[in-house]
Amino acid sequence: MPHLPEQDAGRPFRAPAPRARVQPAAIDAARSHVLVVTGPSGVGKGTLIRALQARFPGLELSVSATTRAPRSGELEGRDYWFLSDAEFDRRIEQGAFLEYAVYAGNRYGTLRSEVDRAGSGGGGPAGPSGLVLEIEVEGARQVRAAMPEAIQVFIAPPTVEALRERLVGRGSDSTDQIESRLEVALAELGSQREFAHVIVNDQLDNAASELASLVARVWDSSKGAQS
Ligand code: ADP
Ligand code: 5GP
Repeated sequence: MPHLPEQDAGRPFRAPAPRARVQPAAIDAARSHVLVVTGPSGVGKGTLIRALQARFPGLELSVSATTRAPRSGELEGRDYWFLSDAEFDRRIEQGAFLEYAVYAGNRYGTLRSEVDRAGSGGGGPAGPSGLVLEIEVEGARQVRAAMPEAIQVFIAPPTVEALRERLVGRGSDSTDQIESRLEVALAELGSQREFAHVIVNDQLDNAASELASLVARVWDSSKGAQS
């Protein structure tokens, strides 16, 4: 686990809880396919995941925990588990997170219970089934260490300007928040070389097809190794 304040230098944040009691990953990865979709905020991760789920209804989206305030229309347990700082600290102490990170002044994390939930399902509908994590880059690194067999895909924008337009067009963030997200995005774009798979989300249909082909190809070739 990284030292949280160092991930977000310059942004005020309360001290993290000690991490001595965090347990090592105990996820039975063989029970579940995990797809990590990462990349800058506003690049279209959520949009692409929805397109992927429309093709493959057996894919479930992990519901992350966050200390960020709900946006208008967001629902507890559907969009996020909205936690106070104290509750987030408590979950860290319990070792409840597969990964967590600071992003633009708030904490976000994947609960192990989400991965267990997906792994405990029986046979799903036709097509690939598994769990999709939509997370930022630092969290993706932690999942890579804990579950190296998970597919990791970095979604890149065609240009930084297009990314700005998407963030503005989405209408969910203030001007300050958009600038903060773009600042993080520049650093994230620099780390895309770490990822085995990079998809440029220029034309949505093309990017969605590319993502679907990748998932079908990788998980199909792992049949037998993972029942
Ligand atoms: P993220 O989940 O990465 O933060 P979203 O899926 O919320 O991003 O997309 C951000 C905005 O960009 C949304 O308004 C979405 O409709 C739009 N968008 C997504 N993909 C494309 C694309 N290929 N071309 C143009 N706009 C897109
Ligand atoms: P937003 O505030 O726009 O919902 O999310 C901000 C960023 O946090 C996005 O890049 C999103 O992918 C990321 N994020 C959402 N959930 C998680 C999580 O569980 N873990 C990590 N590390 N990042 C997350």
